[in-house]
Amino acid sequence: MRLRAWIERWAARLLRYRGQQGVVRLPGRCPACGAETALTTCEARQWLCFGPLPVCPLRAWRLFDQCPVCLHQHRIGRAEYRVWSDQEAAPAVAALAARPQDAAARWELASTWFRLGRLPETWATLAPVTAAGQANAAQWHLCAEVLTALGRPGEAFEAYRQAAELEPGGAAYRRDLGRELSRRRGQLALAEHHLEAAVAAAPADLEAWLLLATVRHRRGAASTALAAWQAAARLDPGGVRLAPYRRQIKICEARLRAA
Ligand SMILES: [Zn+2]
Repeated sequence: MRLRAWIERWAARLLRYRGQQGVVRLPGRCPACGAETALTTCEARQWLCFGPLPVCPLRAWRLFDQCPVCLHQHRIGRAEYRVWSDQEAAPAVAALAARPQDAAARWELASTWFRLGRLPETWATLAPVTAAGQANAAQWHLCAEVLTALGRPGEAFEAYRQAAELEPGGAAYRRDLGRELSRRRGQLALAEHHLEAAVAAAPADLEAWLLLATVRHRRGAASTALAAWQAAARLDPGGVRLAPYRRQIKICEARLRAA
């Protein structure tokens, strides 16, 4: 058993994934640890590495069910994955081909492509709806997710904004708009406003609490930031998701003691 762990540790050092592309985050339950979290899927190539240096490219993979809590993941060769995902999407492709004007069939196909991590196909299916000005909040939100994954942040921001404007009660729409605003210069107050609305609508959304705490910390509001981190800690009993924020939490605690 110890030999196996040793081999695995060395393999992890020598064989690394690089050039991750088309990263898609999907809410779900980790098949390994059972955590309700955002599982990611992406494409990446494995490289033989010498220390931090990539030496020789190896096989291209599709990585999926990547869990931020326990670091579990599945993988399948990229070529096989494309064949498999084409088969998975085939019924939805056929349904839209039979009824090209059917909005429900188009939405079903776009959602299927996105769930499979097929981003260009998702965009090609959704773009006509937004271009025609007929998209609802869920469709704008999916557009935003696709555009983000395709590396088009400006258009993605506009799509996040459209989703939150069309459905202000949608917790995920407010959270994601808040997150995007927090990355823009001079928008922290507005980001906090949207994140507060998000946690009010979905008090069990750990990610929204973490974003809210970070934004409040950056605004210098130590006591309300700590309140948000405490709310996050109640949703993260193992403390795994909170671990990267330890330093910021300590700074807030020190500020409060000094006040
Ligand atoms: Zn897990």
